[in-house]
Amino acid sequence: MYIIINCHSCGKIIMASTANRTKTCTHCGVKVDLHSARVLARSDTTTEAVAIIQELKQRKSKDSPVTFKKFRV
Ligand SMILES: [Zn+2]
Repeated sequence: MYIIINCHSCGKIIMASTANRTKTCTHCGVKVDLHSARVLARSDTTTEAVAIIQELKQRKSKDSPVTFKKFRV
């Protein structure tokens, strides 16, 4: 089983195996405690997990310009 979590340090989306207790963030190198991390999604395979991450990233980049516009006016 794999979980998709947000790194508490850099905020990027990372994937971790639930067989481990911690995951080193591939973006900033900080150790993330899997038990205290906020789980965004779960997956049985790495392929599915990667697809979920890509979808989450796309959703994020689509949302941010809208939010930016809202606060700008
Ligand atoms: Zn990070």
